[in-house]
Amino acid sequence: MIEDYRLQMGDNLQSSPLSLLPPTPNSKTFHHNKQNLMNLATRMTRLGTETAFEVLAKAKALEARGKEIIHLEIGEPDFDTPANIVEAGVQALQQGHTHYTPASGILPLREAIASEISLTRNISVHPDQVVVVPGGKPIMFFALLALCNAGDEVIYPNPGFPIYESMINFVGAKPVPLRLGMENEFSFDADELRSLVSDKTKLIILNSPANPTGGVISDEDLAQVADVALARSIPVLSDEIYSRMLYDGEFASITATPGMPEQTIILDGFSKTYAMTGWRLGYGIMPVDLAQQITKLMVNSNSCTAAFTQMAGVEAITGPQEAVIDMVQAFRRRRDLIVAGLNEIPGIKCLMPKGAFYVFPNIEGTGRSSQELADYLLQEAGIALLSGACFGEYGEGFLRLSYANSEENLLKALKLIKEALARL
Ligand code: PLP
Repeated sequence: MIEDYRLQMGDNLQSSPLSLLPPTPNSKTFHHNKQNLMNLATRMTRLGTETAFEVLAKAKALEARGKEIIHLEIGEPDFDTPANIVEAGVQALQQGHTHYTPASGILPLREAIASEISLTRNISVHPDQVVVVPGGKPIMFFALLALCNAGDEVIYPNPGFPIYESMINFVGAKPVPLRLGMENEFSFDADELRSLVSDKTKLIILNSPANPTGGVISDEDLAQVADVALARSIPVLSDEIYSRMLYDGEFASITATPGMPEQTIILDGFSKTYAMTGWRLGYGIMPVDLAQQITKLMVNSNSCTAAFTQMAGVEAITGPQEAVIDMVQAFRRRRDLIVAGLNEIPGIKCLMPKGAFYVFPNIEGTGRSSQELADYLLQEAGIALLSGACFGEYGEGFLRLSYANSEENLLKALKLIKEALARL
């Protein structure tokens, strides 16, 4: 049942050639008319997308034709949402939590989030600094809308989550990529960061642990960013959505540097930590005056996040955490297995990621581009994965594999990749 739903989700985002749902005459006519009648605003030409959904649709199309596919493309835990959280959501619906809530979120959830972030980041967060939104993504969108004018520059990680660059372009700002190199264990070079800062820099985006590399920014590197940001009063959007998916040491946020909590927006959420991608629940932590502005963006767009989802979120934070610990342990086993397997394949070099649930192997030794190899592996080996170039120009030469799949499937995938590459 879940598979059917995902199929439709990917399919909606896919243009017609690979569509699995036969278009009805009506839907075709509607589509056709829409194109003729609707002249899109120029800003739509600047909007990017997330390729994972397109590859998912392509892979589903192949599956529908009888090909066996192992899915390593989509960035979501393969585990179900823990039962206590589902139960809290169901109870909330049964108890009538089916109405609007305050735009910034219900107080019990904002209180729970404020305590959680105060504890885990060792800072003092007031519930008025919390804005609850449908997923982590809206915080990126809202922060950029609220802070950036046309022509402002935004420094963002590259390779990085593709929505950063898409949204920076969409709001009319200029994306300034900060290269994350394998030689720096997918962190950045501090001198390079300094060289990218200008009088126009309006925001620096950080993501640690990172998608797509699994890299974690060291305390020293965080301190370097803080140094630059404080000296020039540049706000930081710190995407900490994988903060609980960490395999070594303690999570560190840029807010650990005195002065930084006052100029940081922390983005975090429930999608990854509690396997709640479909519930749509995330949040931002920021200074109160900015929180009020972001809340206005919520009023203008979503009104509020679904009430029962927020109630489930209270249970997620305040309830037992064993499911999260078990999930991270399972991811660690899979990470070890996939990294060892990839490094045995000629032409592939893979670092051991410190967080999230992705590996980002270098494939330059195969002599093929990232996209060629991703397409080849899908067609020839039935492995759905992403070209590193989907994550920005500095992702060329790499592939991204999500190891949110069973150990059995990962072993099978490794064998198929090895065999397919031997036939290249
Ligand atoms: N930030 C990063 C780095 C991500 O990888 C993702 C999802 O893949 C998100 C944010 C968005 O998460 P959500 O599904 O909660 O909007």
